Amino acid sequence: MSSVQDFKQVPHKLLVIPGPIEVSDEVLFANAHPSMSHVSLEFVPVFGDCIRMMREVLYTKDAQPFLIAGSGTLGWDQVAANLVEPGENALVLHSGYFGDSFEECLQTYGANVDQIKAEIGAAVSQSEIEKALESKKYKVLTFTHVDTSTAVLSDAKAIAETVKRVSPETLVVMDGVCAVASEEIQMDEWGIDVVLTAPQKGLGTPPGLSIVLASQKAIKVFESRSTPVTSYYASWKKWLPVMKAYENGSAAYFATPPVNLICAFHASLSAITKSSPSLADRFKLHQEASKRIKAAATELGLKQLPLEPSLASNGMTALYFPDGVSGADLLPALLQRGVVVAGGLHTSIKDKYFRIGHMGISVVDPQRGDIDKIISSLRESLAEVKACHKTQ
Ligand SMILES: *Cc1c(COP(=O)(O)O)cnc(C)c1O
Repeated sequence: MSSVQDFKQVPHKLLVIPGPIEVSDEVLFANAHPSMSHVSLEFVPVFGDCIRMMREVLYTKDAQPFLIAGSGTLGWDQVAANLVEPGENALVLHSGYFGDSFEECLQTYGANVDQIKAEIGAAVSQSEIEKALESKKYKVLTFTHVDTSTAVLSDAKAIAETVKRVSPETLVVMDGVCAVASEEIQMDEWGIDVVLTAPQKGLGTPPGLSIVLASQKAIKVFESRSTPVTSYYASWKKWLPVMKAYENGSAAYFATPPVNLICAFHASLSAITKSSPSLADRFKLHQEASKRIKAAATELGLKQLPLEPSLASNGMTALYFPDGVSGADLLPALLQRGVVVAGGLHTSIKDKYFRIGHMGISVVDPQRGDIDKIISSLRESLAEVKACHKTQ
């Protein structure tokens, strides 16, 4: 098989968990590129393009991208090891499971972490953020744009505004793993200093990369550290020259990049930034698909975790099981219809709800019919489970 036109991935169940998501034939085919030297003339511009296209996705002119083999989690390590010095203070906004993980990572590198916890289904309020920032000097504030355990969408713009007003030196760090390319993120205009993400959610590529974009302000903070970086593999001292070299058309080596995955990522980023729908329309399509799924769920009597519509993400939906229905009933019924959703993740209510991802090609390629399939399968599965309970 030598051309993408001949390539079709094998029939499979529809993967609509909040990442990894369905990827296009083009992306998978790009991953099947013959083995290639990471310092070859053929590969250098591919890597350089990915760096440039990531800036487009986040609407930033001059933030510094880092594309490093790993997973989204490595983004937390990059922040903790490069931007926070041992003994410095970090403020973590908690809107679900991923706030706890970020806290643990920061502590691992010696940060003093304070957390503000929102109730399940809510985000931390601006007044609480303001109070915390007034009480102590924080090197970084971190928040999860979409917490994948609750589907809660935080107001990134408002958080950055509050930080700039109350504590302008504090770096604003966004965990955007479940948000990038499905939620609008205006990195420069809103004043976000770091966005960390991964390829397997809204970016529509198989997993295996840590993607971090750091503002020039964050890079300056990194460069003016008074203590050494506290990681070897995650050190920006090692990676900054590599990223600059690839962007400027030459190769540099610290550790081998995931060459084929970068090819796949290039295919997906090209589709996102250079083809139809436009980036702005992509966000609108995610909003529309999300509304359809949430409306259908409401009609079926399912309650969302987010307490208000304005707190609900556009790339995923988290729904409580209705009374008398459990995950052990509903998820296999969906599976039988060829639809793979995810169970709960938030520790205290893990067994009470499930999650549906609606990102990437499942949303922007209507010919696939994925959104219709999710809705009809959910309707049929619920009816089946309820009927089955009645006859028992
Ligand atoms: C998935 C996810 C992560 C972790 O990413 P991995 O690629 O699994 O390491 C971190 N934060 C959020 C919000 C996520 O959704």
